[in-house]
Amino acid sequence: MDFTTRCIHGAVDKTHNTGAVSVPIYQSATFAHPGIGQSTGYDYSRLQNPTREHLEKVIANLEEGTDALAFSTGMAAITALMELFSIGDHIIASEDLYGGTVRLFDNINKKNGLDFDYLDTSDLAKLRSLIRKKTKAIYIETPTNPMMQVTDIQAVAAIAREYKLLVIVDNTFLTPYFQRPLTLGADIVVHSGTKYLSGHNDTLAGFLVTKETDLSEKLRFIYKTTGACLSPFDSWLLIRGIKTLAIRMKRQEENALKLAAFLSSQEKVKKVFFIGLPDHPGFEVSKKQASGFGSMISFEVDTEATAKQVLEKVSLILFAESLGGTETLITYPMVQTHADVPIADRLLRGINECLLRMSVGLEDADDLIEDLRQALS
Ligand SMILES: *Cc1c(COP(=O)(O)O)cnc(C)c1O
Repeated sequence: MDFTTRCIHGAVDKTHNTGAVSVPIYQSATFAHPGIGQSTGYDYSRLQNPTREHLEKVIANLEEGTDALAFSTGMAAITALMELFSIGDHIIASEDLYGGTVRLFDNINKKNGLDFDYLDTSDLAKLRSLIRKKTKAIYIETPTNPMMQVTDIQAVAAIAREYKLLVIVDNTFLTPYFQRPLTLGADIVVHSGTKYLSGHNDTLAGFLVTKETDLSEKLRFIYKTTGACLSPFDSWLLIRGIKTLAIRMKRQEENALKLAAFLSSQEKVKKVFFIGLPDHPGFEVSKKQASGFGSMISFEVDTEATAKQVLEKVSLILFAESLGGTETLITYPMVQTHADVPIADRLLRGINECLLRMSVGLEDADDLIEDLRQALS
């Protein structure tokens, strides 16, 4: 079945026989047992809930994994994931990760005895040189946030196999519509379901997806023990959002291509970071491992004053954090998403006072271009 069809029919609802086309919201904390030692398959909603289970099957299907776990947020998913590791374990990560992930690694996981090295994971020789005896995993985002660095997932997975390391890929930006890391050799896929998967800027969610039973069982144990599961209602919102994932991703990318071209033509815009531009360093790898470029664009304007002017003058485009929804949003990474990244690291990576990041939504492209034009002038 095609991806577009699987977004809508990716799991079969076997829990009822009313013919309801929309999966019911099982707003129940607990489930009655038919007898001693018997279960309907549902005992308590922290462990299993029929609505959430349906969503998890859809996500596992779309990512071509065997199991997916739905969390209350993306950060809850990553926090649970890190419980796979023990004191002294070493993890190699992309240097340009989502700010909240860096905050988790550096302030909480390090305190608990994990050790991290960050690098531009498109540099495979350097990546290899950082592997040591205690290294357990490679954690990447591709493309990264906000600098849009692209990493060759297959090449990283080949190195990881040599040393028996886990490859973890945060696939929030491209979603399985464009990129399926498990099919490229990754072991675990991470999502902030808050973004493109739910797609409407109206709820928070997170996912871990695996393709191997051992790993899935370990994560299920952590999941039921730590408890940051997605609620039945939010699960239903995600199921509904995902039905239009394919059509949204396609259209948002079309808009992004137009906006990237417009921005590139503007005198006050010094640099456009969009993986769909042929002069982007990750363009070829992106074409090889993904079927599209997504709709995240970062761009650097000429001065701090211009950056602030754009943020204040946009009217259709909203000055707000987050990404992936129907509304086009613009953020100021230096003061918002990446405020907790040490200044020196931030500047070294190009996250300066002139950098803006835009999540292109579903509005008409010409209306968005008009808004940017007046904001820049
Ligand atoms: C937003 C985001 C997260 C965190 O997800 P939340 O749902 O906000 O907790 C993780 N990774 C990436 C790439 C994100 O954009």
